[in-house]
Amino acid sequence: MNIAQRLAAVRAAVAAACERAGRPRDAVRLVAVSKTHAAEAIREAYAAGQRDFGENYVQELVAKRRALADLPGIRWHFIGHLQSRKARDLAFPQAFVHGLDSLSAIQKLDAAAREAGLRIPVLLQVNVGDETSKSGVAPEAAGDAARALAACGALSWEGLMTIPPAVANSEAARPFFRRLRALRDSLSQDFDRPLPELSMGMSGDFESAILEGATLVRVGTAIFGHRETRPR
Ligand SMILES: *Cc1c(COP(=O)(O)O)cnc(C)c1O
Repeated sequence: MNIAQRLAAVRAAVAAACERAGRPRDAVRLVAVSKTHAAEAIREAYAAGQRDFGENYVQELVAKRRALADLPGIRWHFIGHLQSRKARDLAFPQAFVHGLDSLSAIQKLDAAAREAGLRIPVLLQVNVGDETSKSGVAPEAAGDAARALAACGALSWEGLMTIPPAVANSEAARPFFRRLRALRDSLSQDFDRPLPELSMGMSGDFESAILEGATLVRVGTAIFGHRETRPR
């Protein structure tokens, strides 16, 4: 299958999961994770109607954004771990930052956004599996990070993002997705704001994530095929 065909299959699976969950199809946005794939692959997906793309590395995102500047309406999602010294590079129009988990990165991105005259939508990354190897704030620390985020005038805090522990199958990931949603609900109440977005679910488990309330699913392999080069 080519990229357009795989994209069509993923879209159909997203629509089916929405239907199973009793949610409208437009409640879930598909982010095509293009990390390590060439700009030409992104053009193919764009030609098939895809507009939201996700990248893990700031330099790679910046280079691709430049190479694809001729594509109107393309939107870039930064889904990697944001280091504060790279924050400035993400202060561009239509950026969406999923991977915020440190006070310094939050403050640097806020400052960069303010300087650029932008208000950037962001998500707080939470390590729901409490794995030492993973990025994201611990669930217990989410309140403190959220307080910092909520105070940033140039960042629009929209919700939470997570990468669950690797599990045997899609179904086994559901408790982690459920935990993220519950945390979102309680933060939403504590901070008295809507927090509509839940970024969760990848190629192997996006259907489970949709059943648990995902609004942004980040799908790479199922659209672009296996990544041959190691991410930089
Ligand atoms: C690479 C990556 C994805 C996509 O993973 P696939 O299994 O290829 O769909 C999603 N989210 C994050 C944070 C990633 O790093």
